Amino acid sequence: MTEETLFSKIIDKTLPSDMVYQDDLVTAFRDINPAAPTHILIVPNRVIPTVDDIEDSDELAMGRMLRVARDLARQENIAEDGYRLIINCRDHGRQEVPHLHMHLVGGKDLGFMLRRES
Ligand code: 5GP
Repeated sequence: MTEETLFSKIIDKTLPSDMVYQDDLVTAFRDINPAAPTHILIVPNRVIPTVDDIEDSDELAMGRMLRVARDLARQENIAEDGYRLIINCRDHGRQEVPHLHMHLVGGKDLGFMLRRES
């Protein structure tokens, strides 16, 4: 049996969300605590806890996530100015929800991605 996560409850609509896209492999919904004017989470429907848990058979879903990101960015009118796609993994990546998800963030200048070490 597949374990349930916060996001799997959003995917099966047990929990409400502002869902913007769903197909047989992935679901996208607006982040509840947005970091920018556009902040959408794109998640595989199958519960994959982290990037480290991706299996070879998930390749199609992983590609779909990127294709959906491209389409949603166009829909949100942020494609031309640009945006950032982020996937956090485990503790050092500060991943909070153990269901792989890609953040699509844009609608403003996001600054540099990481502080340099020196
Ligand atoms: P992480 O830190 O794991 O990469 O990102 C988790 C994201 O999920 C955060 O940006 C957080 O705001 C978002 N989030 C947490 N709980 C919920 C929820 O119940 N609904 C929605 N739509 N987003 C959530």
